[in-house]
Amino acid sequence: MPDTAAPATATAANAAPPKKAAVRGWPGVGPQLAERLAKLDIFAPADLILHLPLRYEDETRLTMLADLRPGVPAQCEVEVISCEVSPPPRRQLLARASDASGEVTLRFVHFYPSQQKQLAAGSRLRIFGELRGGFFGAEMIHPRVKPVAAGEPLPDSLTPIYPTTAGLVQSALRKLIGGALRHNPVVEDLPEPLRRRLNLPTLPDALRTLHAPPPSMAILDIEDRGHPAWQRVKLDELLAQQISLRRAYAARRAKNAPSLPRHDTLTRSLLEQLPFALTGAQGRAFAEIAADLASDHPMQRLLQGDVGSGKTCVAALAMLLAAENGRQAVLMAPTEILAEQHYRKLADWLAPIGLEVAWLSGSRKKKEREATMARLAAGEILLAVGTHALIEDPVALPLLALAVVDEQHRFGVRQRLALREKGQAGESPHMLMMSATPIPRTLAMSYYADLDVSVLDELPPGRTPIVTKLVSDQRRDEVIRRVHDACVAGRQAYWVCPLIEESEALQLKTAQETFEMLSAALPDLTVGLVHGRLKNDEKSATMAAFSANEVQVLVATTVIEVGVDVPNASLMVIEHAERFGLAQLHQLRGRVGRGVHESVCILLFAQPLSQAGRERLKAIFEHTDGFVIAREDLRIRGPGEFIGARQSGVPLLRYADLEEDAVLVDIARDLAETLLRDAPRVADAVTARWFGGRASLLKA
Ligand code: ADP
Ligand code: MG
Repeated sequence: MPDTAAPATATAANAAPPKKAAVRGWPGVGPQLAERLAKLDIFAPADLILHLPLRYEDETRLTMLADLRPGVPAQCEVEVISCEVSPPPRRQLLARASDASGEVTLRFVHFYPSQQKQLAAGSRLRIFGELRGGFFGAEMIHPRVKPVAAGEPLPDSLTPIYPTTAGLVQSALRKLIGGALRHNPVVEDLPEPLRRRLNLPTLPDALRTLHAPPPSMAILDIEDRGHPAWQRVKLDELLAQQISLRRAYAARRAKNAPSLPRHDTLTRSLLEQLPFALTGAQGRAFAEIAADLASDHPMQRLLQGDVGSGKTCVAALAMLLAAENGRQAVLMAPTEILAEQHYRKLADWLAPIGLEVAWLSGSRKKKEREATMARLAAGEILLAVGTHALIEDPVALPLLALAVVDEQHRFGVRQRLALREKGQAGESPHMLMMSATPIPRTLAMSYYADLDVSVLDELPPGRTPIVTKLVSDQRRDEVIRRVHDACVAGRQAYWVCPLIEESEALQLKTAQETFEMLSAALPDLTVGLVHGRLKNDEKSATMAAFSANEVQVLVATTVIEVGVDVPNASLMVIEHAERFGLAQLHQLRGRVGRGVHESVCILLFAQPLSQAGRERLKAIFEHTDGFVIAREDLRIRGPGEFIGARQSGVPLLRYADLEEDAVLVDIARDLAETLLRDAPRVADAVTARWFGGRASLLKA
């Protein structure tokens, strides 16, 4: 049965969440403001109420200028004595102001004419900022300024500072949130005895405290995520997650899938003719997958394994289980290069055991493609390889039983739903997703509602470790000599061009220039170039030439990021390595060290390095284990930006942390079960509050 739930995610490729319209209708919220709120994932009043402060400032009291301490933010009430704009080229707005205890300079490096007016001599102001010892004595740089009348009352709660986005000022956000709190009261759903036993405030109280803490509360206490108010909110969030998880699981168990029991026919033939034995981890993962496939409910499993851990081979075995049972399986990859490589590998492995593999590529001639599609539609071919787009094609796979998705984080929700349309009526195919960017299990669980995980935590034997070198780009000539020496000795090299996120045109230009520079510097070698704008057949011709060592140096943009497997390549040069993300660097480095030769990865970097850039280079230099790198990545970037978040939608957990809040997770798990059994309406309310229109994402 087709799933009718509309996919809703924040990705551009997918349809806009249905609740986007809701925010438009709010009084005082025009299209522009609605758009800005959407950037913060705010689409409904509940989203505003759950948009919680990052930190607080205390504007409930006034400090005398004489009592200010450097670096401690505080509020003072002052009168402006004088105000002037310093002469160009360094136009700055400088005001002197005083209270009964002393004087201070207010310095604005950027300013608007309106601010100049605000700071006219004689104005009375509340200023909030930090004191610094400047060249001309004590000063505040860019304090927050608010004109006041004498005797104006102070606010009666701490001032929340919210995460925001360009064009949306704190005061506007505060007003919206205040309105939402007043007009859309949250109700307490927890059973009273449980709440008392846990010693937590009610949810409405907790939210009020977090949005508007009383002045008596110490900022450090309320900013601490261990505060009972935070705990209460996190429990609610975890509860919503657990409820969705259980529902997604129940929905999956309610679906039928073709049972694919193990016959050890084709799989055994493949194992016998592979030139290697499976690693222990591969064997375990395959056993887990085989057990799932034997069931008549759809599998939903993530196969995680570091770069080079041998996921393709496990995927091939899983696909053979479908074939053994006379059913179809497809393998999909995000790029043509990768899909073609999978195709070649599978075709090589499976030809000797007499199995045909269909190659569904956009670059094949229409006639050939149609012939292949006809044979798939007739069930004459059981195995197919293509890009992720394959699934949106009209290609019919009447016997589809298993879909394998490589680089699952690039696979959209819409595509996942489209998969269900293939295969036989009343059946959902089994899904095996593969990720070359290992993410910690707990993190995977916070992104996917219902997913089993197999891990390849072991590399095939005989790999020589990769040596990583950090080299300043001033020494590029030496690096070119190294490339030359390696290639003359029979090896091959990748040269990865800098990532230029702002402009694809500029990125192409740089790649072209690098190609010309290296061609000129290495006249005795053949240099090739691949980038995203090449036609598919041009790309695959260059890749084939590189595989055959007809091209020794491959200049590439990040199109080679994932999965390319040329064991003779032993040198990887990455230019402007500081611009790449950690996961990307790890992926790129993993292109070498695949053969018996000692491999080197040279990271060329340009000064000055940003703090994050420096940390990334340090992490990639020090670690080779993908799991450790993923954890570092998470630490440096924070979970919000972590791999997959962008593509697969919104992270399911915003405040709680599965590891840190393990105790709450357990409570939420029990409570979810109780609510689903005894009070499904309450369960609905909790998930609606947290996921709203995103809930359908969890089902995909
Ligand atoms: P990844 O997990 O990064 O997709 P691949 O599936 O591309 O890794 O495998 C990397 C290389 O290791 C391939 O050349 C593959 O044939 C080889 N390989 C896979 N399993 C084994 C094994 N058990 N022993 C030796 N080599 C293996
Ligand atoms: Mg791979």
